[in-house]
Amino acid sequence: MSLSKSLLTRGQKVIPGGVNSPVRAFGAVVGDPPFIERASGCYMWDVDGNRYIDLIGSWGPMIVGHSHNQVLEAITQSAKNGTSFGAPTQQEVLFAEDLCDAHPALDMVRLCSSGTEATMHAIRLARGYTKRDHIIKVDGCYHGAHDSVLVKAGSGVATFALPGSPGIPQDIARLTHTAPFNNLDVVEQHLQKFDIACIILEAVPGNMGCIIPKEEYLIGLRRLCTQYGALLLVDEVMTGFRLARGGACERLHIDADLVALGKIVGGGLPLAAFGGKREIMMNLSPVGAVYQAGTLSGNPLAVAAGRATLQILTPNFYENLEKVALQLEEGIRPFVEEKGYSFTRLGSMFTIFFRSQSPQNFSEVQECSFDLFGQFHRNALDEGIYYPPSQYEAVFLGSGMNQDDIQQVIEGTRRAISKLS
Ligand code: PMP
Repeated sequence: MSLSKSLLTRGQKVIPGGVNSPVRAFGAVVGDPPFIERASGCYMWDVDGNRYIDLIGSWGPMIVGHSHNQVLEAITQSAKNGTSFGAPTQQEVLFAEDLCDAHPALDMVRLCSSGTEATMHAIRLARGYTKRDHIIKVDGCYHGAHDSVLVKAGSGVATFALPGSPGIPQDIARLTHTAPFNNLDVVEQHLQKFDIACIILEAVPGNMGCIIPKEEYLIGLRRLCTQYGALLLVDEVMTGFRLARGGACERLHIDADLVALGKIVGGGLPLAAFGGKREIMMNLSPVGAVYQAGTLSGNPLAVAAGRATLQILTPNFYENLEKVALQLEEGIRPFVEEKGYSFTRLGSMFTIFFRSQSPQNFSEVQECSFDLFGQFHRNALDEGIYYPPSQYEAVFLGSGMNQDDIQQVIEGTRRAISKLS
């Protein structure tokens, strides 16, 4: 028995499912998850000595590759000065300035420790600011594991085919109204019927695979929010510092009231943030009445990792990553389409969909063949390519792939598809 398999068996006795986040269990694909021992650049090695080209990058954060020396150096230096103070630091002020400089929606920002917290606090702030209780959420978008947003969510909730989650009081779920992605009519119906505090969405969803928004959809959402006095809350936990330095908002010219950030901003350590227009952010405690707090918020190690990562993300960095992504697309897309499937990419995010047309929304993603996806995933893993273990997830590329790695991904992906039965 492999060491990974025996660790899974042991883990299952003390951790539900043997994993600390559900999709890691590989429930939607064939086979058991490799247990990872170490990672460097674009590679990960499991405890059995197998090497994989990592196409997930810890679900997004590792855009500069694993164990980048500048990031490790920053963490090490910071650790020597202490690992947590529960008091303000110079570094977090500099970091907040970096974030506000980088992202077009940010006048002010507040740091926290996970994307779940970031969207949870941003929604509370939207409710406190507008003095309204209802929100609109888009089907198939995932915003973390808190009560208000676990309704028709993507990512693991979709992977395990859950409509929501037991444990969420009906009184809370009834305040969340859902609308299909790329559809303005349903949004407007909700806005007419309920006092909506905010619309939360991933402008470029990655949690139902990668989906491209229609331009008129994003423009329309902004117009409707302004018209009905609701806030536009763009969840950039995945897209922030990925689609551009200023995230989806910069790349697609979105005028958001609030944004949530996570993943890349923490450089692989637990850090996230939310922020937006000054007038709204000034309602946050201790200046305003909307309460929000966190013992490890602005943790010095996480801030050091985040700052070091952001320094690596120059225009040149994005240009190079985009070139790698394009090369992969050119190598994979024609083959995928020839076999009758589809391929969607924006920047360094992409998904192979086992459906003839690229989906436009969650219900179209649900039409994909999950059986084929499961087989494909296993075949790719056997080729040493670590794709996300669900049709409802996107690939996140990081830097550090050389030409041999790119060829291995292209050829391995083609072979993995050719073997499908
Ligand atoms: N928002 C989005 C768009 C995400 O993709 C995720 C996590 N994948 C979250 C929020 C939640 O972040 P976390 O897992 O750090 O709580």
